[in-house]
Amino acid sequence: MSTKDFIEKDFYKVLGVPKDATEAEIKKAYRKLAREYHPDANKGNAKAEERFKEISEANDVLGDAKKRKEYDEARALFGNGGFRPGPGAGGSFNFDLGDLFGGGAQGGGASGGFGGGIGDVFGGLFNRGGAGTTRTQPRRGQDIDTEVTLTFTEAIEGATVPLRMSSQSPCKACSGTGDKNGTPRVCPTCVGTGQVARGSGGGFSLTDPCPDCKGRGLIAEHPCLDCKGSGRAKSSRTMQVRIPAGVTDSQRIRLRGKGAPGERGGPSGDLYVVVHVGAHPVFGRKDDNLTVTVPVTFTEAALGGEIKVPTLGGPSLTLKLPPGTPNGRTMRARGKGAVRKDGTRGDLLVTVEVSVPKDLSGKARDALEAYREATADEDPRAELFEAAKGA
Ligand SMILES: [Zn+2]
Ligand SMILES: [Zn+2]
Repeated sequence: MSTKDFIEKDFYKVLGVPKDATEAEIKKAYRKLAREYHPDANKGNAKAEERFKEISEANDVLGDAKKRKEYDEARALFGNGGFRPGPGAGGSFNFDLGDLFGGGAQGGGASGGFGGGIGDVFGGLFNRGGAGTTRTQPRRGQDIDTEVTLTFTEAIEGATVPLRMSSQSPCKACSGTGDKNGTPRVCPTCVGTGQVARGSGGGFSLTDPCPDCKGRGLIAEHPCLDCKGSGRAKSSRTMQVRIPAGVTDSQRIRLRGKGAPGERGGPSGDLYVVVHVGAHPVFGRKDDNLTVTVPVTFTEAALGGEIKVPTLGGPSLTLKLPPGTPNGRTMRARGKGAVRKDGTRGDLLVTVEVSVPKDLSGKARDALEAYREATADEDPRAELFEAAKGA
C-alpha cells in the first residue's frame, strides 16, 4: 500500500467509529465487523473478502496506539487525507508503509509529530522532486550575478551570448538529500526547522542557522560520497543567454528563471547580468540616440549640398546640408538610432565638423586667394570688438 493510499484512507470510517473512539470501542467495532465479513462466513463473496481486508487494515493501524497516533498526525500534516503533490512533483508518492512507520516515532504536537520515520518519507519526497510539507517546502534556486561584455553593435541590436556560470545545484548522486541512500534523517537539534533560537529579548526571538545540519533541517546518516553530505554540488554550465536589444553600459538586466535550479521542485532563481559595452570607433550613444560626427568641407558648409552619412549596420544615408551650415550643427536622422524597449528606434544625431585643409595647392589655392580678395571688406571680428566696448 502506498503512503498516499494509506493517508487518504479513512480507517475510522471503515470501522464506523468516531475519531475520538477509545481503544475498547475500536476493538469492539472491529470484532463485530470481522465476524460479519469473515471469509469463512462468506464463501465465494469477493466483496465481503475485500471488505474484510479493509477492516483488518484499519484495525492494524487504529488498534495499535503508536500506529494510530502516527496515522492521525500524518492525516493532519497532509491535510485531512487530501494528500496533494506539490508543484513540479510527478504525482506518485509510493512510499512503503514500512517507511512511514520505520523509525521509533516520538514527539508531540501535529507539526512535531514524527521522529525518525518522517525522514524516510521526506527522503522519498526528495527523490521525486518535492512536495509541500511544512518542513521541506520546495526551495527557490539562488539568484546568480554575472557580467558580460558586448560590442557596441551587439548592445544596440541585442545578442545571444554564451555565459559560463558556476552555481550550487542539488547533488545528482543523492538527489540533493546528502544521504547516499537518499534517506536523510530529520535533524534532532532543530527538529527539521534548520534554525535554532539564539535567545529572546524584547518580545522577539532571534534565530541562527542550526549548527548541526547547517540549516538544512536534515542530517545524512550515510553521507553521500559525492557531496560529503551537503546535498549540494558545484556545477558549472554554459548557457546561451539572450541579451535584449538596446542595453546600455553598466546596465543590470534580470533574466527570470535563468539562475540556479530550485530544490525539491522549487523554481529556478534569476540571473542578473551586468552588461559592459565596448566603444565604437565611429558611433557614440546618447540614450536611445546614436551620435556621429561627420567632417564637411568649408564649401559644403557654406554653399550647402548633400553629404553621405554612415549608419550602424545599415546602408549609408544622404543628408541635405543647407547653405550656410555652421560648424558643430547637429542634424537628426529619424529612426536610425538604438533599439528601444518597444522595438522602435531612436535617432541618429549627425554633427557636422568643418574641416580645414592643411595643404593647398594649384587651383584650390588660387580660388581661395580670389575668395579672400572678394571678401576683403568683411571683418568677421567687427561685431566682437563692438560688443567688447559695451557694458
Ligand atoms: Zn538542525
Ligand atoms: Zn550527494
